[in-house]
Amino acid sequence: MARKHSKHGPSPVAYDEDEQDAPVAVVPCWLCGRPTGKTVIWHHPVPKSRGGRDVVPMHPICQQTLMVNFTNAELQRHGMDVESLLANPAVRKFVDWVANKEPDFTATTAKKQR
Ligand SMILES: [Zn+2]
Repeated sequence: MARKHSKHGPSPVAYDEDEQDAPVAVVPCWLCGRPTGKTVIWHHPVPKSRGGRDVVPMHPICQQTLMVNFTNAELQRHGMDVESLLANPAVRKFVDWVANKEPDFTATTAKKQR
């Protein structure tokens, strides 16, 4: 029952942890819908401190966006309803902007480096 957010996400495809570089079994980000990159954040749409149990895959930068645009109380209110989060102009703008970025793009590693 518990420990659902170890490494076994709700991915329909078998996930091989050793294939670090292969883009196998990527799960789409809950917020922006792009495939997730190397780092997948298992985000609680309803904050843990508010009793949230469900987790969704997200990019670090996408989670960050939610954190700066919503308070815990607001996140709790929206819950799993990502459409209502996307209705926020700032979030909408971010998602449109990040749509062309690479999955591993983060604001902190601004310049292209690989
Ligand atoms: Zn994302």
